[in-house]
Amino acid sequence: MSFHSLGLSKPLLDALAAKNYSKATPIQLQAIPTVLTGRDLLGIAQTGTGKTAAFMLPSLDRLAAERHIPKPGQIRMLVLAPTRELASQIAASAETYGRFMRLSVGVIFGGVPNSKSVRTVARGLDVLVATPGRLLDLIDQRALSLRELEILVLDEADQMLDLGFIHALKRIVSLVPAKRQTLFFSATMPKAIKELADKYLTNPAEVSV
Ligand code: AMP
Repeated sequence: MSFHSLGLSKPLLDALAAKNYSKATPIQLQAIPTVLTGRDLLGIAQTGTGKTAAFMLPSLDRLAAERHIPKPGQIRMLVLAPTRELASQIAASAETYGRFMRLSVGVIFGGVPNSKSVRTVARGLDVLVATPGRLLDLIDQRALSLRELEILVLDEADQMLDLGFIHALKRIVSLVPAKRQTLFFSATMPKAIKELADKYLTNPAEVSV
């Protein structure tokens, strides 16, 4: 099915046309209309299914619909990812899909100078993609705050747990407003992940591909 019936705005449809994406993938068909309503989502999906666009497209539309400029050091949407490679890919997708919107996108991860990450977030961002460790470093340095967060995405949650990020995740989620939209993705759903999803999501829609 095409993207046109899913409720996305023209700037996003134009960006998708420029990428020559003509048909939505199954997870995009299921997730996009739901996320646009503001509902929480639990997605069980592997990489390669189109899951990045499934959460990014409707989230960008929600951010653009209630346009306000983020204050210095404040973030409107946070995407947590396990690795720098995945974080970079997600940020590149956000830039591509949002190219006809005026939304700011940044990415931070370990292994690059801390001062560079501080500069990335200094003015505030509509969308920040981050690995958990570097994000906490910046929070502890008071370079960044999650007090005004509107959308939280946990991508590849099972990988984040496998890499030992559980304490970091718990701390990060304890710092975001209770009133927010949460989108939670994992390729697998072992007990520890299910418990985390139950704790962080409110009445989520579930999609599985
Ligand atoms: P992901 O599962 O998010 O890692 O996406 C897998 C790959 O599929 C990425 O290279 C995307 O750019 C691409 N992709 C995502 N959605 C579509 C679509 N609707 N049509 C064609 N390619 C897509």
